[in-house]
Amino acid sequence: MTHTLAEAYNADRFRNEGHQLIDILSDYLEGATTGNHQKVIDYQSPEDELAFWNDFLHKKTASSDLFSEVLKRITQTHHPKCIGHQVSPTVPISALATLQSALLNNGMAVYEMGMAPTAMERIVIETINKAIGFDDSSGGFLTSGGTLGNLTALLCARNVMSKNDSWNEGLQEKLAIMVSEEAHYCVTRAVKIMGLGEDGIVKVPVDEKFVMDTAQLQKCYDAALKKGYKVIAVVGSAPSTSTGMYDNLSDIASFCKQHQLWFHVDAAHGGAAIFSAKYRSLLKGIKYADSVVIDGHKMMATSSITTALLFKENKNSYKTFTQKAQYLWGREEEDWYNMARRTFECTKSMMSLRFYAIINAYGTDFFSDYVNTLYDSAKRFAKMIEEQQDFELLLTPDSNIVCFRYTNTDMEERNAFNKKLREHLLYDGAYYIVETTINEQHYLRVTVMNPFTQRPHFQQLLDKIIDIANQIKSTDEIIQGHISK
Ligand SMILES: *Cc1c(COP(=O)(O)O)cnc(C)c1O
Repeated sequence: MTHTLAEAYNADRFRNEGHQLIDILSDYLEGATTGNHQKVIDYQSPEDELAFWNDFLHKKTASSDLFSEVLKRITQTHHPKCIGHQVSPTVPISALATLQSALLNNGMAVYEMGMAPTAMERIVIETINKAIGFDDSSGGFLTSGGTLGNLTALLCARNVMSKNDSWNEGLQEKLAIMVSEEAHYCVTRAVKIMGLGEDGIVKVPVDEKFVMDTAQLQKCYDAALKKGYKVIAVVGSAPSTSTGMYDNLSDIASFCKQHQLWFHVDAAHGGAAIFSAKYRSLLKGIKYADSVVIDGHKMMATSSITTALLFKENKNSYKTFTQKAQYLWGREEEDWYNMARRTFECTKSMMSLRFYAIINAYGTDFFSDYVNTLYDSAKRFAKMIEEQQDFELLLTPDSNIVCFRYTNTDMEERNAFNKKLREHLLYDGAYYIVETTINEQHYLRVTVMNPFTQRPHFQQLLDKIIDIANQIKSTDEIIQGHISK
């Protein structure tokens, strides 16, 4: 054993450095959640950041210095003013579970390499399926992200729905999948990866609330047929990413039933609302889905990346990577504990621990509290925007995603002005919010992911935007100054 290896695996060293890390993270958590930290992000250019970490390696510092330095150079997801992207501030118990799994590193492709996480995974899946309203024939597994989950579900749909054995023989029909034009880009990507081509993705227009206009499903379906395509599936967004609005899943379910199509629900963001008595109705119809994707790292507050892919008929989940499996169901279902038969991953992280630890500590009430708190909070913020002069709310939000913009500028420069505003906010760092383009209009976009975000934080954000707007109006030099930073 070399000296380096002996040092690297020294248990006492791990104990000491581990304690230091937990102390550093606990201080971060306290400082961030109380909002005592001045900034959510201390923005550096990519080149400066790269140079910093190149230099850092030459210094040969202690691990605790590394851990501390990382904290200065990240976006503080636990800060109440961090209301940008849809990544949750990890609930600490889930982070601890991730730490444990990171060291133990059971690969989970086969049962023997992950007994506990495999059993937990089944329990987690059954818990979610029960909340969806699926019966005992349902199943599923955890996988690495909503993007991969959607691709896996659609591959499965293709194998189940295509006439020939497409897994072995390749595609022999022109297949198409229907989705709202507001859906997450990963659905289009999945369709392209599957080789269905540009016309293989049929974009259904949205209505004035940016949800799929289900009255147009038939027309789009007929048009695809006329082009020689066989439509195999419809994807509902619950909700869509840009605006956070839920498609009408009941309508899509009826359409799928009528035409015998696979019904997939991309509930990566808002699937957790099935645990909320208050907001469950947004997902009405989800129990008719053939497959559902729900991200843990969004509205269930687990560490990234942790995604549940659920199937109404568990037996279908075996058909993703081998169509012949349909003749072997009995044997395969006995084999539920060998995960790699059904997952994209071979080696897979022990992500079930991240869910299981939360349910073990707080029950599924945690998910319901989390969703209720954040959806309520976003509605409150939306109301404040509506009541405040110089701002325009795009939509009364369904979820915790709120799009709005500053309006006290000329109409022609409104898009550019809001873009500038968001850029200034980023460099300022007191808040972290994002932006989106809808109907060629530029909007500021907030996702309320943090239970610590309260009314005063929202008010201060609006005040800050007005301040910055006034500065921009008085001089454009500020922008130049920031860009060259
Ligand atoms: C975030 C999101 C995705 C992508 O999920 P990842 O876990 O980031 O890969 C897909 N669809 C919707 C609706 C999303 O909100």
